[in-house]
Amino acid sequence: MNEMKSIQLYKSLTEKLDAHEVKVLNKYNVHIRCRKGCADCCILESVFPVDAYVIYNAVLSGDILRENLGFDETPGRCVFLDKGLCSIYNVRPVICRTHGYPVFVEGRTDFCPENFKDLKSLDSEFILDLENLNKALASINIIFQREIEEGEIFLKERITLRELKGYILENA
Ligand code: SF4
Repeated sequence: MNEMKSIQLYKSLTEKLDAHEVKVLNKYNVHIRCRKGCADCCILESVFPVDAYVIYNAVLSGDILRENLGFDETPGRCVFLDKGLCSIYNVRPVICRTHGYPVFVEGRTDFCPENFKDLKSLDSEFILDLENLNKALASINIIFQREIEEGEIFLKERITLRELKGYILENA
């Protein structure tokens, strides 16, 4: 089956985002304390349907095994965490790919307080405009919702990760 245009656009967006984060890491390596096992940012509750579909499809296609999905039920923590690690890392939502790194949002630069502690300023080319990113994702989501042919859940405005996990366990 041909891949939907919206999913191609989504993958291209995540590739660009990942390349940006590598660029930030290369430039500021010693100032970044993000590490495997730190899940302080993993408090995400809901995502755009297109993010949800990519995760669902990864389980449906066998890229992620159902039995390997996280089972963290701690209130306030993402349901896809498994012993502090993201169980869907390769297909994690767009917003998760910005975790910890510098973003410009609501008129100011924000990042994990553990990072960039000894720096007075950051070069603007390494600061991601979160509103632009959200606009790009929202546009892709509109195309996705026009293209998707089945799965009522994917027509909602937002999907909670808890709801998505339940849907995956029932349908994938
Ligand atoms: S999907 Fe993965 S990276 Fe995103 S909040 Fe959940 S565990 Fe963290």
